[in-house]
Amino acid sequence: MRKNIVAGNWKMNNNLQEGLDLAKELQKVLNGKKVNCDVVICTPFIHLSTIAQVITTIGLGAQNCADKVSGAYTGEVSAAMIASTGAKYVILGHSERRSYYGENNAGLKEKVILALSNHLTPIFCVGEVLAERNAGKQNEVVETQIRESLFHFSAEDFKKIVLAYEPVWAIGTGVTATSDQAQEMHAFIRKLIVDQYGATVANEISILYGGSCNASNAKELFTNPDVDGGLIGGASLSVDKFLPIVEAF
Ligand code: PEP
Repeated sequence: MRKNIVAGNWKMNNNLQEGLDLAKELQKVLNGKKVNCDVVICTPFIHLSTIAQVITTIGLGAQNCADKVSGAYTGEVSAAMIASTGAKYVILGHSERRSYYGENNAGLKEKVILALSNHLTPIFCVGEVLAERNAGKQNEVVETQIRESLFHFSAEDFKKIVLAYEPVWAIGTGVTATSDQAQEMHAFIRKLIVDQYGATVANEISILYGGSCNASNAKELFTNPDVDGGLIGGASLSVDKFLPIVEAF
């Protein structure tokens, strides 16, 4: 059966010392605690190798990787470099990368290939902007994102990917998708996977919800049959806010 996952996306927050302190504090509160989900933190690149030394049960991830293997790509960080720190995950296709850095479905396809070939689990984000939802186009948008970046993979490789539905209008806005809106989209995504790879594969894929998820709405969101956890931005930056989301399972 698929895993429940609560993953924090720190974005561009916390200097190295602050990040280290936060990771240590989170690991400390999780020590000896029985939780019903995998807990992951996705940090800026510079934190990875240091934080890898102080966490034991928390998974570690990056927030992006290069679309090239190696070479003269100034400022880029490859999937192999990320893996060499001990990180096991990488967020790909986050809406902030799509909108501020021009990432598109074709380029993201290359990044997912490189992540998988370096044994990283991609947390692949999809989601519509508000105008697309208002026009009733959310399913079409999400289907195209998934089809163009991911549906070329074999079932065996596709099973290694975690999906995150993040309606762009809910990210960092304090506006959360309703529980019904989240379930409706997650069920739609799972049906796409059923049609492409069959029900067995679809049942193994974790689909996380992201977008202003917090201590007060996590439980209701996670109760939905097709919501397998959360990708958490703002509320992952303090243990007080993140822990209740982890404990919502
Ligand atoms: C995110 O950036 O992935 C996210 C869901 O952010 P927030 O929780 O702050 O809306």
